[in-house]
Amino acid sequence: MKAPANIIFQNVQRPELRQWFAETLAAYPELHQRPIYLRKTAMRRSTMRAQPVLNLDFFRRHSRHYRVDFSDHLEVTEHVLVQELPKEVVIGWFAHELGHIVDYLNRPVLGMISFGLGYALWSRYMRKAERVADTIAVNHGFGAEVRATKQYLMEHATLPPHYKARLEKYYLSADELEGLILAWEADQKMPEVVDV
Ligand SMILES: [Zn+2]
Repeated sequence: MKAPANIIFQNVQRPELRQWFAETLAAYPELHQRPIYLRKTAMRRSTMRAQPVLNLDFFRRHSRHYRVDFSDHLEVTEHVLVQELPKEVVIGWFAHELGHIVDYLNRPVLGMISFGLGYALWSRYMRKAERVADTIAVNHGFGAEVRATKQYLMEHATLPPHYKARLEKYYLSADELEGLILAWEADQKMPEVVDV
């Protein structure tokens, strides 16, 4: 699969991560018209996140840039080192983050700001955003990978309990995800409507 030309890597040395990000992004044509960054950075509270880039283009929805950050150290990454995750898990994670970006695409500036506040302040809002991101990832064909990511995190024995509790509170359960995947698969099998 050809890598899209719009990726900007920041501090990402490992060739596999670059390759896997390019592979995942290739399945999101709606994101190919603008710069998408992948950055390794120090984050305290999350392992991976997706955000708009705060530059002048932020104020113009059609040219806004977006960035996926992943953490290189600290609490959670002591247990989940992105550098050591299997390919399927990393791709599932990237697909979820790109799902957030697709969700952001249609939000104007004020929508982005209220989305940020809602996400931070209102757990139902956050749950909804996580569901949307997973749904978009499944609908781009990444159901198996998103499932692998979820399984990896929930079954990873060394994760701190408060991290697992957060996963359970905000993210789709395995059953809910399975429902999305089944719905997508059924949709793929639908015969094309032929106009006679
Ligand atoms: Zn998310």
